Amino acid sequence: MQCLSVGTESPVSSIMDSWSPQALVQKSQEARNLAYCPYSKFRVGAAVLTSDGSVFTGCNVENACYTAGLCAERTAISKAVSEGHTAFKAIAIASDLEDRFISPCGACRQFMREFGSQWEVYLSKSDGSYKLMTVEELLPCSFGPDDLRARPKNH
Ligand SMILES: [Zn+2]
Repeated sequence: MQCLSVGTESPVSSIMDSWSPQALVQKSQEARNLAYCPYSKFRVGAAVLTSDGSVFTGCNVENACYTAGLCAERTAISKAVSEGHTAFKAIAIASDLEDRFISPCGACRQFMREFGSQWEVYLSKSDGSYKLMTVEELLPCSFGPDDLRARPKNH
């Protein structure tokens, strides 16, 4: 696997010429290490892989006004979308949990689903082991962009 960083000290994104789940999980672990979580002390990181091979990472960003905080998954996806990427292959999620796979919250599942239901989600443990699920498996019978397009024309 070859990772080429774009930028210098703190790249916004990087390119994975040939990616592997392990490498994406590692990226999510690196993002986890940057988590801003002074209140929960629960570090989470995410790394999203775009269809062109770019990787965007994110961590949870908490706030003294608790409800203003943001999850790692939505941070990573928002970074990608704001850089012009809306086609995703996979996302890896990391935490410090040793005995269970970190699982995205409901809001993040819906956020992922906006960009398709058939892409891959790697839920990992702190040792780097992972479980693969699809967005569809995490959020079955979901509501998405197509549902809005299907609304009656008279309403
Ligand atoms: Zn979330």
